[in-house]
Amino acid sequence: CGIVGYVGNSSRPAGAGHGALDVVLEGLRRLEYRGYDSAGVAVVADGAISSRKKAGKLGNLLGELEAQPLPESLTGIGHTRWATHGGPTDGNAHPHLADGGRLAVIHNGIIENFAELKQQLLAKGVEFASETDTEVAAALLGDIFRNQLGGDSSKGSLTEAMQLACQRLEGAFTLLAVHADQPGVVVAARRNSPLVVGLGEGENFLGSDVSGFIDYTRRAVELGQDQIVTITADSVDITDFFGAPAEGKEYTVDWDP
Ligand code: GLU
Repeated sequence: CGIVGYVGNSSRPAGAGHGALDVVLEGLRRLEYRGYDSAGVAVVADGAISSRKKAGKLGNLLGELEAQPLPESLTGIGHTRWATHGGPTDGNAHPHLADGGRLAVIHNGIIENFAELKQQLLAKGVEFASETDTEVAAALLGDIFRNQLGGDSSKGSLTEAMQLACQRLEGAFTLLAVHADQPGVVVAARRNSPLVVGLGEGENFLGSDVSGFIDYTRRAVELGQDQIVTITADSVDITDFFGAPAEGKEYTVDWDP
């Protein structure tokens, strides 16, 4: 229901929220007004994905993060869920992992053809841990990254995997993905569901709306339909689902959310 993504460098001033986790949690707090039943986060650190997720209010996730802290990171994603496929449980909360736990995906919306895709992935031996449509999108992306693209971890491969996955997904979705092989990168896609980029200095943001990053920047880029954006600390690249360069609509947020 609410989505936040962040990539930074280490220069954020002390007290402004240092790591990805602080920025992502602040964004999720700002997006609370949308309503939700579960929340979760993932960061890329030390060549791995670390994630925590909990049913219930953000406070439950914060408690979990206190009990089981995440490593410091400059790349993170966060999600508040409004369950549509599978009940509001810890296991169905996002992020959903794939590619042997090296890929984390969060999602707003509904994947209409998830049942058909799930059958195809089950036939290939993929295992599922939740009842969500989202996990099917994560598994598809993971399968494409690992098997179709050969686990190529070079720059751009997660973006290419997202393009190929989106060509097969139907419905309404905002998807964000991070991969352990690509620290410093968040790839996002949108179809019939909102996604805004926040432009910073040495850091960039993603949000389901500008509330997700308004404490940090007022420079925003609204993505068009069927677009994919790849953010790093100092770049924002937009394409369509087939890899052709595309542009969003840049504006300044001059109101207070
Ligand atoms: N359909 C997904 C689920 O049920 C995402 C729901 C949402 O937009 O939060 O997990």
